[in-house]
Formats: sequence, structure tokens, C-alpha cells
Amino acid sequence: MSQPMIAVKELTKSYGEVHAVRSISFEIPRGQIVGFLGPNGAGKTTTMKVLTGYIAPTSGSFMVDGLDGYEQGLQVRNRVGYLPEHNPLYPELVVYDFLSYVASLRRIPKKKIQARIREVGSRCGIQEFVGRPIGTLSKGQRQRVGLAQAMIHDPPLLILDEPTSGLDPNQIVEIRNLVRELGQDHTVILSTHNLPEVMQTCTRLLIIHQGKIVADGTQEELQRDATDNPTVILEVEGGADDTGSMTEQLEKLNGIRSVKGGVQEKGIRFIIETADGSDLRTDIFGLAATAGWSVRELRRDVPDLEHIFHRLTQQ
Ligand code: ATP
Repeated sequence: MSQPMIAVKELTKSYGEVHAVRSISFEIPRGQIVGFLGPNGAGKTTTMKVLTGYIAPTSGSFMVDGLDGYEQGLQVRNRVGYLPEHNPLYPELVVYDFLSYVASLRRIPKKKIQARIREVGSRCGIQEFVGRPIGTLSKGQRQRVGLAQAMIHDPPLLILDEPTSGLDPNQIVEIRNLVRELGQDHTVILSTHNLPEVMQTCTRLLIIHQGKIVADGTQEELQRDATDNPTVILEVEGGADDTGSMTEQLEKLNGIRSVKGGVQEKGIRFIIETADGSDLRTDIFGLAATAGWSVRELRRDVPDLEHIFHRLTQQ
């Protein structure tokens, strides 16, 4: 198995009495786009700042690209591109000069800076305004400049703290698409409060709550874990007279835990709980076909991400 891009082990960060991150451990393989979710104050920014080498952990360890975060801090910083939460840019500076300044801080040789700015500029779609002062740019444009500065030294890992915060819906889509594109050849961790964004952009989720990781997996895995008894929704044509016999027939199927039927405006809706995690849609469809029921809808009822997030972060 190839080395993970990030391996965090029992990492703790306290600010005096405030225990922001409490002994968290996780690994991120190369090439994933990971959504880092959690309520305000959960510890997302703190974790990201540790991984970027911005602040030191109180205890625990982490590796980036096979390098020790403590022993090889300088090399680790070279492997990471960071877009901080409030994307601090200098409004009076022209975009090109700003990127050139960041490139020199990153020790990119002077003769290579122009080519590098052209490269990240084209990748981040900033060529049109590279000659303008940052203060004259829209928020979405500034975020693109922020991403360009994070990528100037060509790091394999991008850490983006709330990259779409404060953007309008169109700008959110643009930045989201850009992040997805960057994810084709970078490992990306992004923190956000925007759950639809995670669903559309990320291949994996980490949920942090009160400094601890409370969930780690794909959306499907989190949904599976959150479902004790999988539920199937069945809607068929019919009225109150049919409900009783239909319920009885459904209850006779193997693996059914409970069946609740209710008459609705346009038919009967059954909420069917299955017993052992099995997906009984095929059996239910078979019964409906044999019995000659007209099926309007048959689907698994899985909890959405919002529901899972609330459940995990409300204690
Ligand atoms: P948000 O979604 O609001 O950005 P977050 O998940 O990024 O929150 P952090 O910024 O990591 O959370 O904060 C975690 C905890 O650590 C909070 O209780 C916060 O008040 C505290 N904290 C963060 N930075 C400092 C600091 N420099 N000094 C003291 N406490 C801090």
C-alpha cells in the first residue's frame, strides 16, 4: 500500500485551558478530496494550522508525504499549500506582484517566478486580472488569487480553510469546480459549513466535534453507519380498503422488521423497516409484481448528511 499523504496520530492542541483538539488520529491517502466538517469551535482550523506547520501541536505526531511534521518541518511546509480562513491579501498590491512576493518567500528562483505565475494563473483562472490591484477584485476573484498563492510552490497537498465562505452562489459553484479540478492531481482537505458543497466536491468526510473525530468515511459509509434499521419506502396505488391486506403480505416477507402503511392523497405509502441491514427492495418489488400492485415509488430511505451531522454534533 502506498504511503498516505497525511497520517495524524493522537494529535492534541490546547491553548492554555482550551483543549481545541483532543488526541485525534486519521490517515488520508493520496488523491482524495476530504471535507473537514464540524460546528463552530470544533477544532478544524486548529488541526489545519498544525498540518501546515503554522502552529505546533501540544502532543502527538503527524506525517505529510512521508515526512515527520516535527523533525522535518521545513520540508513538510514545502509540501503543503494553505488557503487560510480569512485569506489575508494585500489590497494595494497588484496580483502579479503579490504572487511574485509569495514565490520569493517560497524560495522559487527568480528566473522561474514568471513561468510559475503563468502556470498557476492559468490553472486558477486569474490571467484576466493578474495586473489589477487586489483591492479591486471580487471575493470570488480574491479566492482564486488565494488558491494561486497556495499552489505557487507546486505542493502535492492543499489545505483550504472554508474556501467558499462569504461567496455568492455563482462564485461558490466556480470555486467548487476549481477545487474539484485541482483534486485531480492534488490531495485536498477543505473545511466548510456548507453540506451540499461537501456532497458535491468531496470523496471522503471527516467530522470533528469538541476536538474529537466523530465520523470518518465516504458519504455512503456515514449513511450506512447512521442507519440502525434500513428503511424502504413503497408507494402503491390503492385506498384504505387495501392497506390491511397489503401490510400483511409485506410482513410475511423474510427479513422484515415492521411495516407501517398510511393512505395518502394519491395512494398508499408504506414505511418498511428491514431487520438485519438487508436491502429488501428486490423482494418487495417481486411481491408487488406478483400481487399486481401498481408501484409509484420504491426506494431506500437513507438519512441525509445534514441529519447525520446534527446527530453527531449535538451532544
Ligand atoms: P470555526 O468553524 O468557527 O472556524 P473551528 O472548528 O475552526 O471553528 P478552531 O478555530 O480550531 O475551531 O477553534 C477550536 C477551539 O479553540 C475554540 O474553542 C476556539 O475558541 C479555540 N481557539 C482557537 N484559537 C485559539 C487561540 N489562538 N487562543 C485560544 N483559543 C483558541
